[in-house]
Parts: sequence; structure tokens; C-alpha cells
Amino acid sequence: MSTQSSKTEAKAKRKIGLFGGTFDPIHLGHIRMAERCKEQLELDEIWWIPASVPPHKTRQTTPYEKRRAWIEKALDGKAGHRILDIEKEREGKSYTYHTLLELHDREPDCQFYFLTGADSLDGLHTWYHWEELLDLCTFVVTTRPGYDMEISEQIQSVAEKSKGGILCIEIDALQVSSTDVRKLVAQNQSIEALIPTEIIDEVKRSMEIKIEGYKEILKNRLSVKRYTHSVSVANTAARLAGMFNGDIERAYLAGLMHDYARELTEEELLELTAKHNLSTDGVELMQTSLLHGPVGAWLLEEEGLITDKQVLDAIRWHTTGHPDMDQLARIIYISDYIEPGRNFPGVDLLRQITNKDLNLGVLAGLDHTLGFLVQRNHFIHPLSIATRNRLLEEHVVEDLS
Ligand code: ATP
Ligand code: MG
Repeated sequence: MSTQSSKTEAKAKRKIGLFGGTFDPIHLGHIRMAERCKEQLELDEIWWIPASVPPHKTRQTTPYEKRRAWIEKALDGKAGHRILDIEKEREGKSYTYHTLLELHDREPDCQFYFLTGADSLDGLHTWYHWEELLDLCTFVVTTRPGYDMEISEQIQSVAEKSKGGILCIEIDALQVSSTDVRKLVAQNQSIEALIPTEIIDEVKRSMEIKIEGYKEILKNRLSVKRYTHSVSVANTAARLAGMFNGDIERAYLAGLMHDYARELTEEELLELTAKHNLSTDGVELMQTSLLHGPVGAWLLEEEGLITDKQVLDAIRWHTTGHPDMDQLARIIYISDYIEPGRNFPGVDLLRQITNKDLNLGVLAGLDHTLGFLVQRNHFIHPLSIATRNRLLEEHVVEDLS
């Protein structure tokens, strides 16, 4: 079970389990894990450490205060559990290494166990100063459904030479992640079995508030018609993400905000493009409405409304397409085309194709656009052609015939 026992000598020290995470939101899997570690390792206390700016997360997290309040409520005064604001008090990214250094200074009579689920093993060697970290604490890895507890040779050899080492413990872990919780909330499904009862309503509400906030901003920028279209694209994108195993939360947000710059004037689009070097393509400059994707993505990032690169890229490329479009960007591209408010000839066929195969749907959407542009003698954006070629490359020819 244990691959390497703790080598920290001091016996009289208090044994503290440090539980760091984003906790967006805290769920029953976290609580189960913390309790089992406390029992099995005979820890005196567990200190929960919510990350302020999680170094590995690219999506937008719920504000710190809210995540912290959820932990507090979920723990409900449970003995032996505390929350530390150490990462909030420090500026910048929340590196565990800095937290441990600080705690060593502050709490010389404590022996630290840093608690993680098995998913952490995969990227441990990318953690900031991970080798030194293993001198500052015993790195505890627990069972987590869906992940194995294999330690790579590289990590193993460092762990063996370190003061703290790595300790693997088996627990009856629960199959739940914060991502699952967020996805279920986005789909309006029940999260009752996954998070503590005390915070169910707040977590659901928080998601609604986040979306309501975006909607308010959008309502002030877009006509009623385009606002309605945006909500419809968001719903379609979330539905497709659900169907094709994608990220529903991200899909909804990207769909909602994809036309953020759509009602800027031609002058505004050109000015922002020139000033911030957003495009050098001649076609976009002649057909300025194509600029609303890149300009919208730039504005959303600049205004601090969206930091998630994947969402921004999906917005950036939703009109022209891009050969490197990922699944999310493809979902937004086609949702814009087939949302229920669209009623051009052929849209039903596009919907049918998309429901069967997302990529073929995108390809059919591109074909539709290109045909339309050719008919009207409009310029064709080179990215649309490159996107189409990429999609063709991805598909065996029989699929298309
Ligand atoms: P997300 O899906 O947003 O990544 P998460 O459920 O993984 O959320 P985090 O806040 O990222 O939660 O994780 C904090 C710590 O808790 C990590 O070390 C993670 O491995 C561990 N952990 C999370 N869920 C479980 C679980 N169900 N069982 C055991 N450990 C878990
Ligand atoms: Mg995680």
C-alpha cells in the first residue's frame, strides 16, 4: 500500500494534513478524502487551503470568498478542521511550494502531510519546485476513481531521496469532481448526491448569478433580436456539448458571448483591429463584419470578463473558422448556424447532420457558407478554406460520399 513511509523524524510534532485545492465547489469526495486521511494517518488537524489563483486552472473560477464560504459551511464546525487563508494573503499564483515554505516558518512544531487525490501524480513533476516540496512535507496520494496510483520512475527516485517522500493510501473514495458538479448545475440537473446539503442552494444560485451577470452585460450591448439569438446559441451549444461529451459550462458561456462585438460600427471594428493588431487579413479588412469574432474575443479578455483561452478562441473563430478549432470552437461555430431561431433553406438538414456527427455538421456548415459566398461573388476568407481542408483530412472519404 505505502510506497515509501514518511521520513520526517520529529515525533512530538503535531501532525497536520494540508488540503489544498480550488474547491469550486467543495464536494463530498473532498470531505471523504480528508476524513479518511485524518483517520488513517492519525492527523491532529486538517487545514483546508483554498487556492486563490490556481496555477493549473485555465477557466474562470468562482471568487475566492465564495469558495471559502462554501467550505466553511460544508465543514459546519467539524472538529479538527480549519481553513487557512494563506494563499489569499499572498499575491500572485498559489504555488504549494510557497505555502509550505511559509508554514514551515510559521509553525515549526508541526509536521506536514500534503493531501492529494491520485490525479495529482500525473503532473506532479510540473509543480513549481516539486522536488523541494517533497522535502517540506510528506506528499500523500489517495485513491481517486478513474486515476491509478502509479508513480513514475522520475518522481519515485526524487521521492526516495527527499525528506518527506510520497505516501500512497487507499481509501473508499467517492466518484465525484467539482467539474461534475458544475456540469450538472449547468444542465439544471440534481447535485444533491454530490455536495453537502448545506450548500446545494448556494452553489446552484452562484452559477445562475454568474450567467445572469453575463446576460445583463450582453443586454446592454445588443439588440433584443441579437440577444435572443445569443441565448439560443448558448442553449444549442450546451446541448451539443452534452451530446458529444464536451464541456457544457464553457459551451454555454462561449455561445452566450460569441457576438459580443457584433454591433460595433465598422469604424469601431477597424479602429480596434488596427490599434491592437487583431488582424492582418485583407479579407477581414474588406468585409469588416468578419472582425467581430477577433475583436469580441479581444474585448472580453481586455475587460476581464473572460480569461478562459479556450472560450476566447471559440469566440474568436466562430465566423471564419480556424483549422485548429477544438471541439468547443466547432460546437460554437455550428450552434451559431443551427440554433432554433435560424430558418434558412437547408437548416434542418444541417441540424440532422450535426446531431449525428459534430464534425460533419461543421463541414456542412462551411460548405453552405462557401456556396453562398461563391454565388454572390463575395470574398472567401482563407481560414474558412483551411478549416474545410482540415475537416476533410480528418474524415475518411467514405464518410462523405
Ligand atoms: P476540478 O474538477 O475542478 O478539478 P476537483 O474535484 O478535482 O475539481 P480540486 O479542487 O481540483 O477538486 O481538488 C483538490 C484536491 O482534492 C486534489 O488533490 C484532488 O485530487 C482531490 N480530490 C478531488 N476530488 C476527489 C475525490 N473524489 N476523491 C479523492 N480526492 C479528490
Ligand atoms: Mg482537480
